[in-house]
Amino acid sequence: MFAQLQPVATDPILGLMAAYKEDPNPNKVDLGVGVYKDEQGHTAVLKCVKEAEALRLKQEDSKTYIGMAGDLGFNAHIEKLAFGASHKVLLANRVTTAHTPGGTGALRVAAEFIKKANPNATIWVTNPTWANHISLFQAAGLKVKEYSYYDYSTKGLNEEAMFAELATVPAGDVVLVHACCHNPSGMDLTFAQWQRFTDLAKARGFTPLVDMAYQGFGEGLDEDARGLRYLAEQVEEMILCSSCSKNFGLYRERIGAVSVVAADSKIADVAKVNLLSVVRSIYSMPPAHGAIIVANILNSQELTALWHQELAEMRNRINSYRQLIIDKLAAEGVTQDFSFITRQHGMFSFLGINKAQIDRLRSEFSIYMVGSSRVSIAGLNHSNIDYFAKAVATVLK
Ligand code: PLP
Repeated sequence: MFAQLQPVATDPILGLMAAYKEDPNPNKVDLGVGVYKDEQGHTAVLKCVKEAEALRLKQEDSKTYIGMAGDLGFNAHIEKLAFGASHKVLLANRVTTAHTPGGTGALRVAAEFIKKANPNATIWVTNPTWANHISLFQAAGLKVKEYSYYDYSTKGLNEEAMFAELATVPAGDVVLVHACCHNPSGMDLTFAQWQRFTDLAKARGFTPLVDMAYQGFGEGLDEDARGLRYLAEQVEEMILCSSCSKNFGLYRERIGAVSVVAADSKIADVAKVNLLSVVRSIYSMPPAHGAIIVANILNSQELTALWHQELAEMRNRINSYRQLIIDKLAAEGVTQDFSFITRQHGMFSFLGINKAQIDRLRSEFSIYMVGSSRVSIAGLNHSNIDYFAKAVATVLK
């Protein structure tokens, strides 16, 4: 039976990671993978996480199952973090949350949940979007369509095309929107655009699915959630998938959450049993470790303050490099306009260079980025920014 299997294309980022690893050039630069790196190029465990883990080691007295919804303390915290502590959907018990294995797990559970609610639903995703969105939703049996989002020529939002296309989405379909730090473009919706999106969701009756994988990496924890909080105030129902991979640096612990907002608490109760039946049939229960680390941090004022400080350090470092790229390229005599980089948020931006230039950066300078010219800004640091700017200036000539 297995001999009949055909090879499957792997994610190009994985191939890029492997090629980077094997490259003997001591000056090599990895701008491919979407993982935060510090000034030393290291993805360190946050101090608040170390302390929360020590606490867990001391306090944990059982390894029994935690239940399909996962850690209830974590779920309560993550709802407040996303929606804000006194959001009307929380006060009205309209939200049900399950902690999941990462943001990817949240999206897969959401997809199966959508299929239960409406087997004919199409899910609309931004063009472009995180590559895994499309394969993940298709694997769950949902139809996927794209709507215009990033305009490669203006390096901004393709606003009119986006809203014109969303105005054709029927009730019963789902529209995925990135809460902040759009992956791969870094181009986020302004608050006015969130309002426009919300008006359209209400008028058309489609269900928004907000994917928030980078809360706190854009402008701040509350600022990054402002759009989705407004949306949740206005619409009857929506789904939120969140991830603690980036903002808590818990990547390999696989911790995220799916929250369903329903029109009232009764529907939310029914949504909950459906959500949990999806969980039961995929992995039964989520792993506890990451959730308890996050809960330990958010249960403690001291650890929360430390987390805020460490998160701000990551955010500020990325944002300072957004400006530095522009300054260093200008210093190298590049006249092309790169100012769009500071108008974008989070870990990524498209550099907007062509394939031949991307290939040259890799073959001549060992600078690795994906074929779309998406760069992970956190891969830059004081030891490689000048080398990077000189190399880009060379291939742009
Ligand atoms: N959504 C987006 C837009 C992402 O970029 C990512 C990770 O890169 C995820 C979801 C999933 O994150 P994880 O499963 O690592 O928590």
